Amino acid sequence: MKTEIIAVGTELLLGQISNGNARFLSEKLAELGIDVYWHSTVGDNTVRLAGVLKAALDRADLLILCGGLGPTMDDLTKETAAEVLGLPLEVNREWEYRLEQFFSGLGRRMPENNRKQALLPRGAQIILNEYGTAPGVWLEYGRQLLILLPGPPRELEPMFVCKVMPRLQKLAGGKIIVSRVLKVAGLGESALEEAIADLKAAQSNPTIAPLAQYSEVHLRLTAKAGSREEAENLLDGLEDKLRNRLGESVFGRDGERLEEQVGKMLMERKLTLAVAESCTGGLLAQLLTSVPGSSAYFLQGLVTYSNRSKTALLGIDPARLCKYGAVSPEIAGAMAENGRKLAGSDLCLAVTGIAGPTGGTEEKPPGLVYIASATAHDLDCRRFNFPGTRQSIQERAAATALNLLRLKLLRQEQ
Ligand code: ATP
Ligand code: MG
Repeated sequence: MKTEIIAVGTELLLGQISNGNARFLSEKLAELGIDVYWHSTVGDNTVRLAGVLKAALDRADLLILCGGLGPTMDDLTKETAAEVLGLPLEVNREWEYRLEQFFSGLGRRMPENNRKQALLPRGAQIILNEYGTAPGVWLEYGRQLLILLPGPPRELEPMFVCKVMPRLQKLAGGKIIVSRVLKVAGLGESALEEAIADLKAAQSNPTIAPLAQYSEVHLRLTAKAGSREEAENLLDGLEDKLRNRLGESVFGRDGERLEEQVGKMLMERKLTLAVAESCTGGLLAQLLTSVPGSSAYFLQGLVTYSNRSKTALLGIDPARLCKYGAVSPEIAGAMAENGRKLAGSDLCLAVTGIAGPTGGTEEKPPGLVYIASATAHDLDCRRFNFPGTRQSIQERAAATALNLLRLKLLRQEQ
């Protein structure tokens, strides 16, 4: 079923609001396995709306219009659709009665303007709107189907989910689409693509679509099947294959965040953590403490941005700072070791680097970051060159530190 979504509203063209309805409708139609081929946006203008409608009728089987069903002069979606299709508008007595009841319930007389909301193109059915005065319209026109919905998302969304989706699902042959996201850290997008190229090429249902997100890559797995259970089974099979292939790079699924996974692992192992940060300016501590219950394992974070504070708060030897520079493996290591002792924690992560865009040198360019982790028994330090803006370097540095800790905890287990 080739589908076109037509959003009506001058405010969309002026950039005053974004087209959230088209995004929502597309997402839901994908779940039903219905192909959306076009998104159109048009202002509150009869002539241009008629033009868009004619073009859509020439190419699509299903047209979903949203917006312009209100009572005011600039709400003209229904009137224009009826005119383009050559159908007269007729009063729907049931909705007219409902509107009168609605207004008398408010203790007000119904404004004449609202009466037009009870008009329907001949042959159309009402789609009930429990949250507003504009009903939706379901209109079968030859082999095509037009669905008109009000603009406000709080009306459109429940109407679409409760009233429209069940009917469309039947028309779409009862197939549903279910997606799942596998989250990968510590592996770049191209390395990941390479690692799974054969699996990706061999799969048509479920499909695999990678999406790079700063320091993570998300793999969206999408299955089409006759029932949710069948789709979930297909996804389980593919997820197993990907986990076998990618091993410990996979850290979670769907809404799970890296900092939550790290928190869970610390909690399970009854370990405590401190951080000592320079170039991330507290971001690492912020991520860790964004997890509810993090006080069970997170003891403290020190932001030692200057050399002086590295000495005053972390006890780093000024002579060493002078010798190696603050951005060096030696200082990253010392920050982690001293940070752990000061906090009395089992572990400490330390980050020092150049977030840029200024402050770099040829030897130490922006993006150069050292991340160290210390326990009572060992000290690891890694060097990174992160690309991007100041913000993305800071975000990558903090996420990478979390991932290093995750991997360290996993490996300690073995
Ligand atoms: P109303 O009865 O409120 O006038 P309507 O069906 O005539 O409803 P519009 O007037 O087009 O709808 O839009 C009403 C409001 O709904 C807009 O001000 C906007 O906040 C929201 N809206 C409209 N279209 C969209 C869209 N495509 N995406 C997100 N929000 C939208
Ligand atoms: Mg309106």
